Amino acid sequence: MKRMFAGIVCAVLFAVPCRAERVPILMYHDISEARTGDYSVTPVRFEEHLAALENAGYHTVTFADLMDYVYFGGNLPDSPVLLTFDDGYDGVFASAAEIAARHGMTLSCAVIGSLVGQNGHFPLTGVPDNMEIVSHTFALHDRPGWDGAVCPDADLLRYEQILTEDAEAMRQTCGEAFPCAASVLIYPHGRFSAESERVFRSLGYTVTVTCGTGIADVRRGEPESLYTLPRISVWQNTTAEELMSAIAYKKGS
Ligand SMILES: [Zn+2]
Repeated sequence: MKRMFAGIVCAVLFAVPCRAERVPILMYHDISEARTGDYSVTPVRFEEHLAALENAGYHTVTFADLMDYVYFGGNLPDSPVLLTFDDGYDGVFASAAEIAARHGMTLSCAVIGSLVGQNGHFPLTGVPDNMEIVSHTFALHDRPGWDGAVCPDADLLRYEQILTEDAEAMRQTCGEAFPCAASVLIYPHGRFSAESERVFRSLGYTVTVTCGTGIADVRRGEPESLYTLPRISVWQNTTAEELMSAIAYKKGS
């Protein structure tokens, strides 16, 4: 029944057949020589990843592209792939954007509003054209006693109030220059709940992204398909071959 309804919505909204796209969403954090640990990929390795994607015929898209596809019947390129970068580290600003630009590729960066421009986190001035800015919440990333944006407290009214204030602070930080920060949320630590989904949706977020492993299945005319999107994790030691094999089933399915 749900599928039948979606088909009717597609026909009414766009007068075109329903379509779906499988979109691998890659999860990076920092791109840096200096940082150590699993979360940091060197610029050389990052370029190897991009070259492999390019050679295999992938084309980067942004979350704005996905919203355009789902809500307005826009088109996506063949073999779309989306590159996300959590936390807003300096290295992404300093080197990843330039490397991606050389390959004609885009990045989607989830910034923590309260850390913008501080302590190894890039500012929102001089953001390159190929970099989309989305929300990683203003100050819920490491809130004491919380699990990312999920609160163990049963006081739902208070929870809703805190999320509302946090989203407003994020809007003020990012302003009109970065509208996707008010509509796309990458959950801190990937943690989410039915309640967090309900509240963020009521605040106007039309895309939510987790750390669940998988390839996103985005469907034209089905806004629901943009919620709790899974990703493919990319670590310091992930080789280009491993990355391509992690997203390869997309090609054959
Ligand atoms: Zn994070």
